[in-house]
Amino acid sequence: MKTVYMDNNATTRTDPAVVEAMLPFFSELYGNPSSMHSFGGQVGRHVREAREKIAALINAHPAEILFTSCGTESDNAAIMGTLRSYPDKKHFIMTRVEHPAVLNVGHYLRARGYRVTELGVDRKGRLDLGELRDALSDDTALVSVMTANNETGVIFPIDEIGEIVKARGIPFHTDAVQAVGKIPMDMARQPIDMLSLSGHKLHAPKGVGALYIRRGTKFTPFVIGGHQESGKRGGTENVPYIVGLGKASELAGEHLKEENTRVKKMRDRLEKELLERIPNAMINGDPGNRLPNTTSISFEYVEGESILLLMNAVQICASSGSACTSGSLEPSHVLRAMGVPFTAAHGSIRFSLSVYNSEEDVDHVIEQMPPIIQKVRDISPFWKDFQAGKPISALMAGGSGHDHHHH
Ligand code: PLP
Repeated sequence: MKTVYMDNNATTRTDPAVVEAMLPFFSELYGNPSSMHSFGGQVGRHVREAREKIAALINAHPAEILFTSCGTESDNAAIMGTLRSYPDKKHFIMTRVEHPAVLNVGHYLRARGYRVTELGVDRKGRLDLGELRDALSDDTALVSVMTANNETGVIFPIDEIGEIVKARGIPFHTDAVQAVGKIPMDMARQPIDMLSLSGHKLHAPKGVGALYIRRGTKFTPFVIGGHQESGKRGGTENVPYIVGLGKASELAGEHLKEENTRVKKMRDRLEKELLERIPNAMINGDPGNRLPNTTSISFEYVEGESILLLMNAVQICASSGSACTSGSLEPSHVLRAMGVPFTAAHGSIRFSLSVYNSEEDVDHVIEQMPPIIQKVRDISPFWKDFQAGKPISALMAGGSGHDHHHH
């Protein structure tokens, strides 16, 4: 049986063309791009070309691209690098649905005396821009709002947000790790000061990322060392991975149209068929405003982990919207922030497609899911209670009754 991989928001397959582009830099082209001799110097040219390709993907200037080790580092560098540039400002604004790479930085800052505002979302995962406007103050050092959510695919109105924030003279960062390569990003037009991206979400390998820093933006280096990356990040360049990210960016630009046509159509068909064939199923997140590859579907009165186990047995890879923390299954912070009822949040599954998926993959999932959901419901006491019209037992209700704070 072939593996059907629909977990591309977790990570993607490295494109074979990307692997091929990287290989020479492990063998014959091993020089240090900072060397004076041409053996190393020629490697520097490839780093420059990679920088140009990433800049082209988001319509930025190559000098505005800083290579990092991952999306998490990009987020950390953007936030900490900005706060250190404004030592007198002690207020940071983010949303409640950020990836832990931003969320936990916010919690870290709060524990160290910063005032941290977490903007809430509504039932469809949408922000209230009035709440953002009211939160801005003269003490605000930075606002960080993700472009698209990794769990639901919901896209925030990042241009409008950037305009509101910048009108107050406050720097604006966006975690676009899930957006780059799936929707067009244009730094010449969009009011964004800093943008994070990650290689392994766009068919480059794990362990390489980039941070876009608009010219003129104050930035204090996170990694202090040599003069690499214009003094913004010390450390000898990870040349093979940088070259890989460059190649992947070039391909992502070419595939952008396919993401928004063929991939989107597959996602829409998958979603429509599953909702038709399976009772008590619903989409999480604003259906009209999502990444083209993502759907988060809640199957009520069952546990996502049990569904994933049965999916695994028929070689379908996806993710659930709950995480096993200290032995109890907790719905994700994203679904909790949206106020998804606990009976639905527990049984949420995220399917995330890519250009590597085919209609046959979609057929396989459409065929396999209804009996899987039936099987887990047959042994679910919650489903039995629901069918009998009885109140749901305290066990499931208790799961999300108390709010967990992860530090
Ligand atoms: N931000 C978002 C929205 C993500 O989805 C991820 C990855 O899951 C990250 C940041 C972290 O990226 P990386 O795994 O490259 O550190």
